[in-house]
Amino acid sequence: ADVLARIDELVRLVPDYPQPGVLFRDITPLLADGPAFAGVVEAMAAAAPEGVDLVAGMEARGFLLAAPVSVALGAGLLPVRKAGKLPGPTAVEHYELEYGHASVEIHPFTVPEGARVLVIDDVLATGGTAAATVALLERCGAEVVGLSFLVELEGLDGRARLGGLPVDVLVRVP
Ligand code: 5GP
Repeated sequence: ADVLARIDELVRLVPDYPQPGVLFRDITPLLADGPAFAGVVEAMAAAAPEGVDLVAGMEARGFLLAAPVSVALGAGLLPVRKAGKLPGPTAVEHYELEYGHASVEIHPFTVPEGARVLVIDDVLATGGTAAATVALLERCGAEVVGLSFLVELEGLDGRARLGGLPVDVLVRVP
């Protein structure tokens, strides 16, 4: 619990990054703090639903959290990649951003039918990335049993796009 109280001070606020008007949450100070990073991984693993087969992490910061959580749970790791990074064959989901569009890709042959998947990323903002990831996983035959984020930007109401799935967050900010 001590560690969770420190998350706030270990997430650096960067105004106007990557674009003017955006207040970016930089998690590198948190990653650099051994006890805090361990505490975050432990808390995410403790909050995970029962019987997770695979932990899906979104490129790139989601990888950093999903990998240790998957090991803690004894589950597999599923990298959810940006466009064009996997050798294929891939399953792809396209989605809209505020300016432009993006896509997420996985190797569907690494997802057994009915696999119970926990989705992890560092920040839940508009929810576009997470919603696309859920859609992609479900199309590939997985059961998304929950999502877990370090930080939720509540004002953007990304949670509303996640179809009522269980969402665990360690820190909420307005
Ligand atoms: P969304 O699709 O929910 O709008 O944006 C979420 C994606 O953008 C996540 O993959 C997340 O890592 C990244 N993101 C959006 N805002 C921030 C932020 O303030 N800090 C960090 N670290 N990532 C962000």
